[in-house]
This record gives sequence, structure tokens and C-alpha cells, in this order.
Amino acid sequence: MVRVIMLSPPGAGKGTHSRWLTLQTGAAHISSGDLLREEVARGSDLGRQVASYTDRGDLVPDELIFSILAPAVVAAARDTGGYVLDGFPRTMPQALRAAQFGADLALTSNAVIYLTAPEEELVSRLLDRARRDGRADDTLGVIRHRLAVFAKETAPLIDYYRGRGILLELSTDRPEADVRADLVNQLQARGLMVPRAGEPRPDLAEQAGMSPGNM
Ligand code: AMP
Repeated sequence: MVRVIMLSPPGAGKGTHSRWLTLQTGAAHISSGDLLREEVARGSDLGRQVASYTDRGDLVPDELIFSILAPAVVAAARDTGGYVLDGFPRTMPQALRAAQFGADLALTSNAVIYLTAPEEELVSRLLDRARRDGRADDTLGVIRHRLAVFAKETAPLIDYYRGRGILLELSTDRPEADVRADLVNQLQARGLMVPRAGEPRPDLAEQAGMSPGNM
């Protein structure tokens, strides 16, 4: 079963690909951003505290994130045996604590999927999403700030996971079906996803003009 961390700057497609991977594998999708937005929508004191960070595009303090995320990860692993962590960890202290937590509970992540796209493409996708969904943090100023926060706080995780030998890097600056095929190939190559009986291998399907995305 996959126990995967999706690591990507805002707009690179971690939500989209997390949801798809969840459907393919049966692992639980745990989105830190969604959990935080639910808390904000509840209008609780905690939600107001969360919004004071998320509205500006700043990271919510590590302690708060961990207290919200840890129970969800434990429940997911118990119910499905796996997880797709979408948006967590985002800082080195979060990553180190998640690694300790994973080791203690035999829930260590087996892959980190790092999605990339050129910065202007990220900005343009987020502005499109703003027109569609109206998220409070998808304004140009906040988008630029979130990208700067990613570069400062989250980018160091790339080398950390590369050093642990579990980083898979994928460009999302191409059709979504190609990204999915590449993702499946990389996970299958590591024995983390088993081809379904009768399912064409994505690399061969691609050559034949098919891809898992349009099957
Ligand atoms: P996302 O939906 O992943 O883009 O997250 C939306 C916002 O939630 C981010 O800009 C942060 O303010 C906050 N957030 C989400 N995940 C984390 C995290 N792991 N650590 C701190 N803040 C987070």
C-alpha cells in the first residue's frame, strides 16, 4: 500500500494528483489545507486562529498542524493501510517529527512525490483557480508570498527526501494523463503499485496512444 507524501509548490497539482492516486490505490487522502479550511469554515476559535495565517499565505505553526494531522494519519492508516499526505510536511521540523512518528507507529512514508512546474505557470493556474473557486489565498499578492514561503520553508525538504532515497520528481508542465502515466510507472518500478490484471503498462499504453488518464 502506498504511504506517500505529495511535496509541491502551490499550483503544481498536488490536490489533483493526490485525489487521483487515492482513487487508484484505496489509500486515504489527507489534505492539510482541506482540514484547515474545514476548521475555518466551522468558525471556531481555532478556525479564526488558523485563518489569520492562511489568509496571508503564511504557514500555520507546526504544533497546531501536528495536532490536527496526527489523528487523521493514524485513522487513515488503520482504515486503509496507507495514506497520501497532501500538503504535509511543509517545514523541516514537521518532516523530522513526521519521520519519528512514522517510525514509532510503523507508518514510515515509502515515497515522496515532488511535483514541479515553471513559476509563471503556477501563478497562472492559481489565478484560474481563483476565478473558479474563489479561495481567499488565491490573490496575486498572496500567491507570490506562498511561493516565497515554499522556497524558504519547504524546498529544503527536497534534498532531505532525496538523501533518504525516496524522492520521485515529476514535471506537471505537460498533459495530466502523461503525468499520471509517469507517476504510475515510477510507483510500479518501486513495487509500490501493482499493475491490475489485464491493465496495460502505462509506458506501453503511452506508446499505443493510450494512458491511464483516458482509460
Ligand atoms: P494548501 O491547500 O495545501 O495550499 O494549503 C493552504 C494553506 O494552509 C497554506 O498556505 C498554509 O497557510 C496552510 N497549510 C497547509 N498545510 C500546512 C502545513 N503542513 N504547515 C503549515 N501550514 C499549512
